[in-house]
Amino acid sequence: MTTRADPRLDLSCETSGLQPRPPGTFEVLAQAPGSPARAGRLWTAHGPIDTPCFMPVGTYGAVKGLDADDLREVGAQIILGNSYHLGHRPGAARVAALGGLHRMMAWDRPILTDSGGFQVFSLRGLQKIDDAGVSYQTHFDGSRHRMTPESVLATQAALGSDICMILDHCPPADAEPALIRAAVDRSTRWAEEAARRRGEILQPGQLCFGIVQGGTNVALRREHLKALADLPFEGLALGGLSVGEPIPEMHATMAAIGPEMPQDRPRYVMGIGTPHDLLAAVSSGIDMFDCVMPTRHARNGQLFTFSGRLNIRQARFRDDDAPIDPACRCRCCARYSRAYLRHLHEQNEPLYGRLATIHNLYFYQQWVGALRRALRSGRFEALRGEFSSIISTVYAEGAGAEGDVDAAAAAAVAAPEPA
Ligand SMILES: [Zn+2]
Repeated sequence: MTTRADPRLDLSCETSGLQPRPPGTFEVLAQAPGSPARAGRLWTAHGPIDTPCFMPVGTYGAVKGLDADDLREVGAQIILGNSYHLGHRPGAARVAALGGLHRMMAWDRPILTDSGGFQVFSLRGLQKIDDAGVSYQTHFDGSRHRMTPESVLATQAALGSDICMILDHCPPADAEPALIRAAVDRSTRWAEEAARRRGEILQPGQLCFGIVQGGTNVALRREHLKALADLPFEGLALGGLSVGEPIPEMHATMAAIGPEMPQDRPRYVMGIGTPHDLLAAVSSGIDMFDCVMPTRHARNGQLFTFSGRLNIRQARFRDDDAPIDPACRCRCCARYSRAYLRHLHEQNEPLYGRLATIHNLYFYQQWVGALRRALRSGRFEALRGEFSSIISTVYAEGAGAEGDVDAAAAAAVAAPEPA
């Protein structure tokens, strides 16, 4: 049997031995010459996060099928929970009474929670927005509730999140310009309210991030950023991207706004993305991302490799004894064949989802780990040159066909990370 290595030593900067810094401290460790891309370190109450950083999504307090040991093994430094879901099931007060989300999940690294606003605004026909908040009926049981800038912080205070997101108004991508404008103005007022009240609602050490809206209208984004940059938030996010707008417009918005976000604070793009989106975001000076893509795709049979996406359901894998990716060092690839995974998937064995999720998350952590290493060793532009053709060919929108395995690319990704 293969010995289980600790891939975190390769995937994440090993931060043991560092002198802890106060929560909210953000250090820029390396800046790519002539580019907004940078590597950094954000300190939270549960330790540091090395950036650029990808956050696996655990909507209900679990990254589906994985426990805390698995998450550590794939190199996750921080995970994301959803306040809307956890606030209703099992309920924020119940989580608090059980010792908080970290205790419940046996996860001792950082947790970021969203405000839950995105989910509530997605409940079309079941919500009513006014200037003070939003009233809604849940998709669970139709019960009526209200969300305000204060209530979302109170929920996240009860969950014990390390990074709390403020309430913002995220309109759909196809919204009329007047609605996008109104959403920005409302989000600014809500941000001011959150900034004013956070001290009395959040626990000591909990960080709070503001969210910039404005769709793909760069002038509006810039105006909103200006309003939020003056408020006492430890980081700023771009919300309302990857909500259905064309991919080139999303990348152009990040490229225009990312470099203008405050240098001395972490920058987070919510809800992205493909490996190609991550490269575009890092190139725009973004530090943090989250997305359901690696976990959801894993369950659907879509497995990521540096030579493209592989659909394990295909009949050609029935007798294939090779691992998903011979260059991958995850536990799934170290032990199991494509044929076995295909068989497990066909039989709806829960083990399939677990192994596939381990592989896909490991792939994402390898990719951001490679970006971090390149930034910290002054090789970002070289890596970008090497990879943009591979990553954009196989992971741009609409792509995903399996191409040629590129051993050099895989070796570049597997290189050790400087401390
Ligand atoms: Zn693997």
